[in-house]
Amino acid sequence: MERKGPQKLAVLLCRFSDTNNNTEPPRQFFEDLFLNRNTGGLNDYWHDVSHGAINLDGSEIFGWQTLNISVADFIRTVPGRDGKVAYAVNAFGLNIGDYAAVVGIFNAVIGGGGSHGWAVLAQAGDLNLTFLAHETGHAFGLDHSYDRSGRVIIEDQTHPGEYYDRNDIMSAMNVDSGEDARFGRRGPILNAPNMERMGWLDPTRVWHRPSGKSGYFRVELVSLGHPEIPGYLVAKVGSLYVEFRTQDGWDDGIFMSCIEIRKMQNANSYLYLSNPSTFRTDWLPGSMFGPDDTKWEIMGGVRIFIDSFDKEHKKAHITIHYHVGHGVEEAPILPDWNVWKRPKHLNDVDLHPEWNKYIIELENTLLQSWEQTLQLNRVILILQQDLLMLKQQKFK
Ligand SMILES: [Zn+2]
Repeated sequence: MERKGPQKLAVLLCRFSDTNNNTEPPRQFFEDLFLNRNTGGLNDYWHDVSHGAINLDGSEIFGWQTLNISVADFIRTVPGRDGKVAYAVNAFGLNIGDYAAVVGIFNAVIGGGGSHGWAVLAQAGDLNLTFLAHETGHAFGLDHSYDRSGRVIIEDQTHPGEYYDRNDIMSAMNVDSGEDARFGRRGPILNAPNMERMGWLDPTRVWHRPSGKSGYFRVELVSLGHPEIPGYLVAKVGSLYVEFRTQDGWDDGIFMSCIEIRKMQNANSYLYLSNPSTFRTDWLPGSMFGPDDTKWEIMGGVRIFIDSFDKEHKKAHITIHYHVGHGVEEAPILPDWNVWKRPKHLNDVDLHPEWNKYIIELENTLLQSWEQTLQLNRVILILQQDLLMLKQQKFK
């Protein structure tokens, strides 16, 4: 899913036969909104949040043109978002193959904006950067972001956690945005796993553990919104992405400067909760991500300590601690937490009751955290290594 260089948009400004009253913003407004640089518009947005990998140079604005149809007839007879934009494409006589995406802007309410493949549909009220960035993001291949709370934002229509990453543009409009004087809501930026999926995250700026051994590693992270500052932008810890976000620039509307931790599952990023009872997702100095002391001592694992923020220099300091548990030399390959199945041999052996209880507890909460998956995997590994020893081992 790599996308690089200029992404030419065709922006079609459409009126209807009965909304042809010339009260819309002039063409210059849309040139600044979509095409021109240094305007605070969408071209600046995508250039910045892709860390320079893409831009909207070469995009073209067409219209205003009055379509030969009334609003009511358009809503009644033209189905689908892509169908509606295709109607405009025909009216303008364009070849959609010439463009990365087509944005149809209509000066009336026509039953909801959104996107479908190459087509972005904006109705009256949709002209703001947050909406347009989200929908053009879809056209570029991005999918929705999630948190791991399991909350459902629209019953029967969205998946658990979908749209709950408030600091990622691919959860718009359920995001924390700033305000641009001309272009309305703006931000937030795109999170690190989504950036990497698009080929926009410079791999030389991603920290990895230098060796497979136990130990403490102190890592300085630069704010993801400030790639102009040298240093690591992301720490990869197993399958986790750790990033630092500061409340400025395109992120000036986020709730607070914070560390955030995500993982990628297929095309979607999942944001970890720092406090499951309040659904907070920010990790602040003094907090720690990882297993509690008992599990840590027995099973080992990874802990991430948030040490300090240097907001003036846009840097955060974290310490990553890898710890090997009893009898385990190396962290095993993590199972996919979506497809976990209890290994058959677990049912066939006579486990110490405390261990059995612990395994059941882990299984019951398996989908809730990556560390628990890691711990369960370690239990399995120990079982495979030495069942007899395990039976005599005391749970503590
Ligand atoms: Zn969407």
